[in-house]
Amino acid sequence: MTNQVIQLNAKKLSEVATYYEKHKIIRSAPGVVFAAKLTDTSITGYKSGKILFQGAGAEREANRWSSELIKPKVSAAKGDTLPPGFSQTSVIGSDETGTGDFFGPMTVAACFVSTDQIELIHELGVKDSKMLTDPLMRKIAPDLKEVLTYSILTLGNEKYNKVQAKGWSQGKIKALLHNQALKHVLNKMTPQKPDYILIDQFAERGIYYNHIKMEKEIIRENVLFSTKAEQLHVAVAAASILARVAFLEEMDRLSLDAGVTLPKGAGSKVDEVAAKIVFAKGEEYLSTITKKHFANTGKALAIVNKKRNH
Ligand code: MG
Repeated sequence: MTNQVIQLNAKKLSEVATYYEKHKIIRSAPGVVFAAKLTDTSITGYKSGKILFQGAGAEREANRWSSELIKPKVSAAKGDTLPPGFSQTSVIGSDETGTGDFFGPMTVAACFVSTDQIELIHELGVKDSKMLTDPLMRKIAPDLKEVLTYSILTLGNEKYNKVQAKGWSQGKIKALLHNQALKHVLNKMTPQKPDYILIDQFAERGIYYNHIKMEKEIIRENVLFSTKAEQLHVAVAAASILARVAFLEEMDRLSLDAGVTLPKGAGSKVDEVAAKIVFAKGEEYLSTITKKHFANTGKALAIVNKKRNH
């Protein structure tokens, strides 16, 4: 079965809906504004302006509207050139989060989305996670866990600080976690194999593999790297949501433990909350819930010292 996806603006979308009016069917999935069924093609139009054509006649029907296409934004994505039709192939995607946050863990997730799951994953509300809010991602994540083969790794602060003190860079830590998460997913889905693996690029291929060269098992087969990968395959978008929600859940747990809502990021709000925590629970405790080597540690201690000297 072939799938074709096109993106139109709202006005064109309703023209397409009118065109297929005679073949209209009712589909009450989230985000669907119309659906139609021809003898050889199913057509689903989404609020976002996307139209999905499925079946033997998919290409013919999609081409009918190709002159109406919104030109895809010229993407500044860096990395591998992806094969044609990549977004409709079966892919394990991986992504990480928490790397820029003083409080809380670093998390990495990988998940497998097969070609025939792509539409479902879209319907569950998965899109570029930069367009989704945290509460929405928390809502979607359980559904993703229900239907996908995945691995989520949460590197807690104490472990992070330990390996960081050993001299491991964030790049190395990330690379090791990505490799591990990919390995887990591949093992879980055996004997099935993905067409490709796509890593949301944080380091170039050579650097990535240099980081993990001492590992026993190194995942190399059909591995592609690209920045903005969550826009290139829904598997990366889904992985990004899983990693983000794992981060949020650990932040919830740590906030409860610390007795204060821990802010994200590494800005001045973070310094102030960190200083309060040092007053309440001590410097040692602070290092158990933070990435200690960040400049925020010094800034928080400066606030503490200033107050103590007053
Ligand atoms: Mg990323």
